[in-house]
Amino acid sequence: ATGRRDPDCVFCKILAGEIPSDRVYEDETVIAFKDLSPKAPVHVLVVPREHRRDVRELAEQPELLAHVATVAGDIASHQGSGDFRLLFNTGPSAGQTVFHVHAHVLAGGTLAEGEM
Ligand code: 5GP
Ligand code: ZN
Repeated sequence: ATGRRDPDCVFCKILAGEIPSDRVYEDETVIAFKDLSPKAPVHVLVVPREHRRDVRELAEQPELLAHVATVAGDIASHQGSGDFRLLFNTGPSAGQTVFHVHAHVLAGGTLAEGEM
């Protein structure tokens, strides 16, 4: 099921090319682009094309969730040492601000414990 889109969603607008982004990877199911305010030397968001609210909804498609992890690893290998942190903020009190599921890929340098 493709084509799910929320007209008010900033990441749906990025996917549609209506808001510019610095894309580092894309395929039929996901895109990846640099975070607007990076928290690490490499800070990329991996975003399924289909509008889903959070990782709990993404987990209903295990292959897509696994693909997000694979893409994250590939990005970390190409842009950093290969080590990375994969993060899904889930819900407002966990810091989620964009309610279109996205994985933060943080890499490069040394990531502190407890840091985003
Ligand atoms: P959240 O806090 O929801 O997990 O993360 C949302 C992330 O999206 C934030 O790190 C924020 O910097 C990033 N972000 C929000 N709007 C845009 C945008 O228009 N373009 C890009 N590249 N990143 C964005
Ligand atoms: Zn969306």
